[in-house]
Amino acid sequence: MPGLIEGHSHLFLHPYNEVSWNDQVLTESRAERTARATTHAYATLMAGFTTVRDLGTEGAQYDDAGLKQAIEKGIIKGPRMIIATKAIVARGTYGPNYKNADLDLPQGAAEVGGLEELSKEVYTQLSKGADVIKLYADYRWGLDGAAAPTFSQEAITLATSIAKSAGRQTVAHSYTKEGMRRAIMGGVSTIEHGEDGDEEIFKLMKEKNVAFCPTLAAGDAILQYRGWKKGTDPEPERIVAKRKSFQLAMRSGVTILMGGDVGVFRHGTNAREMELMVDYGMKPLDVLRCATSVNSKVFGYADKIGRLRKGMLADIIAVQGDPSIDIKKIKEVSFVMKDGKIIILPPTQLPRVKGLK
Ligand SMILES: [Zn+2]
Repeated sequence: MPGLIEGHSHLFLHPYNEVSWNDQVLTESRAERTARATTHAYATLMAGFTTVRDLGTEGAQYDDAGLKQAIEKGIIKGPRMIIATKAIVARGTYGPNYKNADLDLPQGAAEVGGLEELSKEVYTQLSKGADVIKLYADYRWGLDGAAAPTFSQEAITLATSIAKSAGRQTVAHSYTKEGMRRAIMGGVSTIEHGEDGDEEIFKLMKEKNVAFCPTLAAGDAILQYRGWKKGTDPEPERIVAKRKSFQLAMRSGVTILMGGDVGVFRHGTNAREMELMVDYGMKPLDVLRCATSVNSKVFGYADKIGRLRKGMLADIIAVQGDPSIDIKKIKEVSFVMKDGKIIILPPTQLPRVKGLK
């Protein structure tokens, strides 16, 4: 198969049931976070994911740019990276936030407070190595902590037009319908999460050629961290709603991406998203397409990755069994080649690779 493409990762995060997001951002040094990121990158590649679209360092500054270079120079083994650097939030809307007005805490993304600051930040992130600009189109800053839109449509249009000049895409984190609507009309290429997406919004996305990255595995993991015993307890309301909206998105014909928000859950278990996509109603073969040719096309890399074809980069994996019948087989990776180079597998996996010395 072509190497798999993770559509939404955070190599600088690790599971929140180990250390909370706030504590990762505030108490872990950048050296520690980078050390962790190198092991995350290796685990990702070993799982057959030869490319990741890494959507924000969450407080680790521009260290994704350095990590990407270390991989390109062959210092460490990891996937090809499409990076967002810091990502951009409206001032005061993101975290860490302990609701103490006396504190000015380091933030998980770059804060901007107006159109001028926004455009300056887009230019800065592009100059620091961003392959894609990520905006938080809404966040939990409404009354009573409700998710509410952050940037105006005008602001999003400004950011996307600057990024576009540089040949870069813009992506939006968005949960709310209004945030999604502004992001779509503002010219983003993909919407991440999209919990409140309904028929009207998905139709608009299809019309404007905006793809949808549902990140099913993030919610699935977070609810389990909060105590949901999956398989025993009934499905939480949020999961039932997500299942429904995913099916609605499928019926609407909007382009669906494979991206799980991995980092919220363990790196190297990226395929959790693929299993959930099948569980929520997509055919295994379509899920495999999402994780290869669809992701590569939407991200603008269709001529390089996502298919096995002459002239493209030789990102090739083998799995034991047929994942187009049973998606679980995608986890049985026995061979990984990135850009024509065979990646030596850990000793525990070696015996399964026939003919590899
Ligand atoms: Zn994310």
